[in-house]
Amino acid sequence: MEGSRALPLRDLPSVSAVLSAAAAPALLERFGRIASTDAVRAVLGDARRALRAGAPSVPSAQDVALLALARLDQEDRSGLRPLFNLTGTVLHTNLGRAALPEAAVEAAMAAMREPVALEFDLETGRRGERDDHVRALLCALTGAEDATVVNNNAAAVLISLNTLANGREAIVSRGELIEIGGAFRMPDIMARAGARLVEVGTTNRTHARDYRAALSTETGVILKVHTSNYRIQGFTAEVGGAELAQIAGEANAPLMNDLGSGTLIDLSRYGMQKEPTVREAVAEGAGVVTFSGDKLLGGPQAGFIVGRRALIAAINRNPMKRALRIDKIRLAAIEATLKLYRDPDRLAERLPTLRLLTRTQAEIEAQARRLQPEVAQAVGAAFAVTIGECRSQIGSGALPLDTIASAGLVIRSGAGGRALERLAAALRNLPRPVIGRIEDGALTLDMRCLTDEAAFVSTLSALDRDALA
Ligand SMILES: *Cc1c(COP(=O)(O)O)cnc(C)c1O
Repeated sequence: MEGSRALPLRDLPSVSAVLSAAAAPALLERFGRIASTDAVRAVLGDARRALRAGAPSVPSAQDVALLALARLDQEDRSGLRPLFNLTGTVLHTNLGRAALPEAAVEAAMAAMREPVALEFDLETGRRGERDDHVRALLCALTGAEDATVVNNNAAAVLISLNTLANGREAIVSRGELIEIGGAFRMPDIMARAGARLVEVGTTNRTHARDYRAALSTETGVILKVHTSNYRIQGFTAEVGGAELAQIAGEANAPLMNDLGSGTLIDLSRYGMQKEPTVREAVAEGAGVVTFSGDKLLGGPQAGFIVGRRALIAAINRNPMKRALRIDKIRLAAIEATLKLYRDPDRLAERLPTLRLLTRTQAEIEAQARRLQPEVAQAVGAAFAVTIGECRSQIGSGALPLDTIASAGLVIRSGAGGRALERLAAALRNLPRPVIGRIEDGALTLDMRCLTDEAAFVSTLSALDRDALA
């Protein structure tokens, strides 16, 4: 039919007409003239293509202004905006690991806004050391003689190996040549650190005699790596830290113990599986112990190195230290986090990581029960929302076999997997994204890490139910 031919493109409003529309002041006020004009042009371009493809109507100037506003709004949403981690993994590396305690957030904010005595000794007025702010705390909490801080534990391992074994040999059990994830594999890190890897023992069994046979005048370090993200079970043997420290001493070399997650307290006190503590590793005689700041410790990303004074001093003299050091913001957050450990009785209240890990299944289930009607209403009748038991994980390679009884909302669709995928995508696209886990034909929202119920209900109200059906 003649009448259904493409509408004349010349009926599209001009850029200046759009910038005079009723919605234009709001657009210009929020995003400025240049970004607003660019967005209007982009929307007009889309409209032109749509008309050529047979779109039935021409948008008004006001329509285009509103579309430009929506477009900039969408672009303006930060990819790093807060989200709800309902995956059931408490320390989720891809979701930023530990949520920081309030005291750490405040300390970091203060350090961001104002100058601080980062490398300045307030008593003498002379230059100070940035690590001094946390050195005494780390020593008190671990029993070590000295301590230093770098960007993360991967950096701690790298600089320690480079300092202790550059051009020399690093002896490690074949059962501990781990990959942490990404490109962090122990043999590769050794090579980059300049250490020659000497593998001893077998995958499942390594004995004291294996280490002793490998000792030589070339030995720079014996490395022990906590197999944090996997377990070797069955017919196994490993040499304990105390014995290894003694063997290393026979070659006048230090033992380095990479604990990975590293915890400062005995977790069995909170009903969790025991992990080796940093204090124990130090007491066993390790010269250097490395561990993460944002795993079980519950602080910001950081790598801690504690141990004997002469070794820490050598690490601090390594030129790599400057490249791997941390900034005032994190240092302030670390100091505040470590201070909480001086009062273990109140730690579970104050440290979010521990608070989340110690929530009981009954408490979580009650929360799921409260929220079930809200979620059922938000997702609509096409989905069935039930309360179910599930298992949370600690995550970040800590206690890999240990799951914790939890509860959540289990969402199923009569329409099958596609509908669930669409729902999961819509939840990810909310103003405050909701991230669950699809498993066995259901989308599970593990409620363990849900702290702000009101914000959760409020973000759910933005779910476009019609787009899901
Ligand atoms: C996690 C881990 C690392 C790396 O620590 P990051 O803080 O992620 O850099 C190194 N070694 C072990 C044993 C680990 O578990």
